[in-house]
Amino acid sequence: MKVAVYPGSFDPVTLGHLDIIERSCEIFDQVIVTVMYNKSKSPMFTVEERVQLIKDATKHLKNVVVDCHEGLLIDYLKSKEVFIIVKGLRAISDFEAEFQMASVNQKLCHKIETVFIMTRTEYMYLSSSIVKEVASFNGDISNFVTENVQLAIASKMGGNNE
Ligand code: ADP
Repeated sequence: MKVAVYPGSFDPVTLGHLDIIERSCEIFDQVIVTVMYNKSKSPMFTVEERVQLIKDATKHLKNVVVDCHEGLLIDYLKSKEVFIIVKGLRAISDFEAEFQMASVNQKLCHKIETVFIMTRTEYMYLSSSIVKEVASFNGDISNFVTENVQLAIASKMGGNNE
């Protein structure tokens, strides 16, 4: 069975992430979406909330598992015995950091392969942080995230972003 891990902060999951998940599901038998966290960061959503939002958004996909991990991705991969990482690539700006990370991961464990899936042009400029920024000014984020995520952001911000 070909299994891949799609890691990220997913704070929160966007339509750009979902597109990568859906396309990965066509390529791999199982895709584990892993919320990576770091206690020193202060995200908008807790790990549990991020996991739940991804679960809600991927209900229609039978071969997705949602999980979380604190620490090095490589340790997570070893614990799961999975050696394929899926990453989304947006603008050229993503490339350098991703290239560095893929090279380091391969140095740490030669079995690891990173597979890059190119963003669809409509999601090229989409990131979780831009969604939060637009929402903080009461902008319309309906083209960027699912309805569930819109509601979750609205409730975090204590207002309504409809
Ligand atoms: P961000 O906070 O920048 O949205 P994440 O750490 O949550 O990033 O992203 C996890 C993975 O998803 C990364 O590989 C990232 O490049 C990819 N990704 C994020 N947004 C998009 C998008 N709009 N299109 C394609 N890939 C994306």
